[in-house]
Amino acid sequence: MAGIYIHIPFCKQACHYCNFHFSTSLRYKNELITALLKEIELTPNFFPEATASAGIIETIYFGGGTPSLCTQDEIKKILDKVREIFSVSADVEITLEANPDDISEKKLQQWKEAGINRLSIGIQSFFEEDLTWMNRAHNSRQAWESLGLATRYFNNITIDLIYGTPALTNEKWKQNVEKAIELGIPHLSCYALTVEPKTPLQKLIREHRTPDVNPDQQSEQFLLLMEWAQQAGYEHYEISNFAKPGFRSRHNSSYWQGKPYFGFGPSAHSFDGQSRWWNVANNTKYMRSIGEGTIPFEKEVLTATQQINELIMISLRTREGLNLERVTQNIRGMNKEELAEVKVQLLKESIKYIKNGLMIQEKEWLRLTREGRLLADGIAADLFL
Ligand code: SF4
Repeated sequence: MAGIYIHIPFCKQACHYCNFHFSTSLRYKNELITALLKEIELTPNFFPEATASAGIIETIYFGGGTPSLCTQDEIKKILDKVREIFSVSADVEITLEANPDDISEKKLQQWKEAGINRLSIGIQSFFEEDLTWMNRAHNSRQAWESLGLATRYFNNITIDLIYGTPALTNEKWKQNVEKAIELGIPHLSCYALTVEPKTPLQKLIREHRTPDVNPDQQSEQFLLLMEWAQQAGYEHYEISNFAKPGFRSRHNSSYWQGKPYFGFGPSAHSFDGQSRWWNVANNTKYMRSIGEGTIPFEKEVLTATQQINELIMISLRTREGLNLERVTQNIRGMNKEELAEVKVQLLKESIKYIKNGLMIQEKEWLRLTREGRLLADGIAADLFL
């Protein structure tokens, strides 16, 4: 069982906080899609073992960038190519990230016809001043209208919301979450604003043209979010993700369960359980290399320590938590005795967190409490080998 990620590296304009790979010039979109189709075709030659052991593809995710800039024909061609090269499950989850300003009745119909069965909509905020501050391409009216339309065509919808921005009061944050709940959106991905290196936001903060983020405000808004989402019947199944029953993201869940995935397109990452490889994050270099019949990637074989640290990091972010039994299995590069020792060490290191109420242990599982989730990354880093 594996997943496929398709990276569409184009956006209408650059959001100030974003450090993903994208270009705001759509001039070479056709050529890039052609290269992407070719990359999928070349994959069995470049990664024969990973392709042979991938099994059935359970999820396909169009991310970016802005995949909603693709035409229906482009989406169909990509899905046809995936089906030509891989075995795809009959009930495959196919998610498309869409920005509100790209959503229209016609587009929604076309996406449905093309086989998309889950939409991820980049709302971020319903307030005009927040959207302007973020330099989003959409406005408040489009945020509202796009959701009204989307819910008529899709029932499996997730929206992204950002909290912890300097001007977002708790009251405004509440209104953002309440609007999503009122509209019956079954899945929410809520992210604390992070100031990434080399982004316009970092520059604006450095030049004192906008205030820096306030970690206390972010913690407070995260705690409030957990409370509101729980009251509204959402399951908090991963630090940033909340789902009504039956609406967890199958694609992202498979990342968190350490399942293999292929990533296609510039900057896309792939993982086969032990190695990770990633494509060049440059559209021109990507197209040129694919044109010459070569996938432009770099590869890293994870050591046993890296495999375990990654497992700790991603598992602790999930509702289920870290399964200690899993630490002693499926880790290549350490023998049984060494892995048993790792388990003992992890338990020993966890005691202080269990004692101060940040973590609980249930049989083989270590999971974070509500308060522990506020410190997830720090606790995970502390448990690293
Ligand atoms: S639309 Fe998404 S990928 Fe594009 S700049 Fe904004 S946040 Fe980044």
